[in-house]
Amino acid sequence: MHLGMLLEMAADGMADRVALGPLASGLTFAELASRARRLGAALEARPGERVGLIDLNSPAVPLTLFGSAIAGKPFVPINYRLADPQLRAIVARTAPATIIVGEGVVERVGPVDGVEFLSRAEALALAEDPEGKEKDGWGGDADEIAVLLFTSGTTGEPKAAVLRHSNLTEYIISTVEFAGSAEDEAAIVSVPPYHIAGISAVLSSTYSGRRVVQLEAFDPVAWVHIVRQESITHAMVVPTMLGRILDIVEKDGKGLPSLRSLSYGGGPMPLPVIERAVGLLPNVGFVNAYGLTETSSTIAVLGPDDHQAAFASDDPAVRARLASVGKPLPTLEVSIRDAAGVEVPTGERGEISVRGGQVSGEYLGRGTTLDSDGWFPTRDEGHLDEAGYLFVHGRLDDVIVRGGENLSPGEIEAVLLEHPSVLEAAVVGIPNKEWGEQVVAAVVTSGGVTEEDLKAHVRSRLRSSRTPDHIQFREELPFNESGKLLRRVLRTELSEAFT
Ligand code: ATP
Repeated sequence: MHLGMLLEMAADGMADRVALGPLASGLTFAELASRARRLGAALEARPGERVGLIDLNSPAVPLTLFGSAIAGKPFVPINYRLADPQLRAIVARTAPATIIVGEGVVERVGPVDGVEFLSRAEALALAEDPEGKEKDGWGGDADEIAVLLFTSGTTGEPKAAVLRHSNLTEYIISTVEFAGSAEDEAAIVSVPPYHIAGISAVLSSTYSGRRVVQLEAFDPVAWVHIVRQESITHAMVVPTMLGRILDIVEKDGKGLPSLRSLSYGGGPMPLPVIERAVGLLPNVGFVNAYGLTETSSTIAVLGPDDHQAAFASDDPAVRARLASVGKPLPTLEVSIRDAAGVEVPTGERGEISVRGGQVSGEYLGRGTTLDSDGWFPTRDEGHLDEAGYLFVHGRLDDVIVRGGENLSPGEIEAVLLEHPSVLEAAVVGIPNKEWGEQVVAAVVTSGGVTEEDLKAHVRSRLRSSRTPDHIQFREELPFNESGKLLRRVLRTELSEAFT
């Protein structure tokens, strides 16, 4: 299905429901569609193949996502917070002829040949212009490119994933029911517009008929305020956001009474944080969602029932599922493979590979990474248990090879986080003459704990090769704005400190 069709269905089937903004003054689905059609006509009339966006969240994001789809031009949301030279390089690489920009962006990027900048206000004015003509239908087919979306660049330079209309809509259709949301449902979108979670939240809400309330950028105080004020029922957070939200909720004791579903993902969630969340928000259904940009969002889900069952169970195998990402979506196939690409037996670790309509695996300028049978290698290490639950152990490229033994940083981080004084933990390998690599941890603690205490704690739970050779105590760990640990930055800092 084309994104233009998805919007038309919502506009036809749920015309008068509020789609975007506050309940009292937001845009209805009919208004959202007619504004997107007007912006679509204006974008179609402009030169160039692609439409960029360098901005925070605002109504211009869904309007440009749908408007460029209607115009038949790929949408390229670019990270507003990149350093100026990176921003210029990405603009040069993706070559959008029109870029919708937030405050100060034009000054930062400077004039670029062949690029016309439209301010957020100008884009909104085009969408609202009562004189503007609305484009009929939409440009292109479902197998054309809808969005060029950059991966987070956790393991190297960000890659521009090519997402086709069919990839995105197959994901939406397989996970949400058309018009299936109750009229009072509302989702808060606080993840950035250049992240797959931001795009998929807008698309799934539109298809299911759920109102979207945007936060320009995540801020825990504003997030809690909006959730309460707008009676938000659904939210998605990355791990770093959740701890900060819980601090506020714990302090003021007012809870989040309207919230029914909180999904989390984008990186491993420390178990103590989710235990704390369940304690503080007993009426919320928690969902762990695992996915990648290249797979148009989620590929496996640990739902509220599994969370409840795991917390209530005395069976260690059931409790252990809290550390899993649940079961793969029924519309996908997941296979765990060794380095030679051969499927490993159940329970053994290998590379998570995935196949299905929502999977792109294609990058701008690099072609496809799907194998001849359509499988996408995620570069994540994981295993499936007997009951079909998927466990993610981290990026294969982050595996530490110490004395010939392969160690997963995630396993050591999870154990460090079990210590009551450890608030954040990250483990990396740094070069070492004797061992090839040494294990080094960086931790943020609440105090009262020594390096020796933490080493003894790890030693008591894992084989001795997993005990960090060094532990650095820090005020904070380096995270990017979508909550991803900047492991490469940390590795450089720790290498300088300990070699
Ligand atoms: P790059 O590919 O450029 O290195 P990236 O992998 O961080 O960047 P994203 O597509 O934003 O780019 O992130 C996907 C990765 O995030 C997954 O491959 C996985 O490692 C991690 N991830 C996502 N969701 C979860 C989750 N629920 N639990 C554990 N890890 C997760």
